[in-house]
Amino acid sequence: MRAALLNELAEVRAGDTPRRNPELPFKEEPLDINDNTPEPEPSFKQVLIRVEACGVCYTDIDIIEGRVKCKTPLILGHQIVGRVEALGPGVKGRVEVGERVGVAWIGWSCGKCKYCVTGLENLCSDFKPTGCSIDGGYAEYTVAYEDYVYKIPEVFESYEAAPLLCAGSVGYRALKLAEMTDGLRLGFFGFGASAHILIQVARRLYPSSEIYVFSRSSDHRELALRLGADWVGHPSGIPPKKLDRAIDFTPVGETVPKAMEVLDKGGRLVINVIRKQTSINLDYVKHLWMEKEVKTVANVSRRDVEEFLGIAANYSVKPEVTLYKLEQVNEAIRDLKRAVLRGSAVLKMR
Ligand SMILES: [Zn+2]
Ligand SMILES: [Zn+2]
Repeated sequence: MRAALLNELAEVRAGDTPRRNPELPFKEEPLDINDNTPEPEPSFKQVLIRVEACGVCYTDIDIIEGRVKCKTPLILGHQIVGRVEALGPGVKGRVEVGERVGVAWIGWSCGKCKYCVTGLENLCSDFKPTGCSIDGGYAEYTVAYEDYVYKIPEVFESYEAAPLLCAGSVGYRALKLAEMTDGLRLGFFGFGASAHILIQVARRLYPSSEIYVFSRSSDHRELALRLGADWVGHPSGIPPKKLDRAIDFTPVGETVPKAMEVLDKGGRLVINVIRKQTSINLDYVKHLWMEKEVKTVANVSRRDVEEFLGIAANYSVKPEVTLYKLEQVNEAIRDLKRAVLRGSAVLKMR
């Protein structure tokens, strides 16, 4: 089968964290297209999936650049939509051959630890990420554990559903952790793949809330206004009112003190990004005093993905997508790295 292979991870250097830093070395063609990759075989409790679309995530760049450690050689991709082609041994029949399913970042978890038994498999120490420990969806076929696939609502084309599986679902988890309720003022820092989906959901779930979007990109600010933001500005800007909740989607450090500064008393910031600049300076009085809180989001649970797919289908929330063929994957990664695309990059296999 045809697959895009990552054969080696880049050496990470001390201080390499912000992934869109143009100073970082970046291979123009990090992935090799290989037409003779063996088709995977489903092992115990796995299903074989013919991939129709796979989203490209910033985490894939973190993996390529060595900041997230994964196996090699590796087939990246953890926002997979495809059709079940065959069932492996031990499959219980949760899904059928021919059914359309999605696969997200959590490819397997232990099912026994204190996190797994309470539905927090996103915090399981032994979980296996898709497109990292298990080969992912930058290929014609992939395999996934039956208990870790999602039924994809009919209303979505496969390429529309793909970005909902990570960018959308992780954003949704951030919104839950923010304990957002209708009427609270909500701020977004950064406006890429995740935020542009989340604003559409937030607009519908919290109709009387004001939404403030901070982005360095005028293109992204314009998109935010079109998708329902009440106010947009540069991250250095001061919003007209204090915010109750904020979600930070950026890999840079300076947005954290900035968000804490513009939060009202009792406000909460949720940091929704896997790799963040590691040292962040917060002043107790200026940024934390008066019961302000900071929380982070790690991965996404199955329940989050299931809930989010239902909400997105119900409200007809659809991502803006730029489509690429599998053989154009390096171009998709470069465009994402340079932040030149609006919304989400998706590989469309057929
Ligand atoms: Zn992702
Ligand atoms: Zn576990």
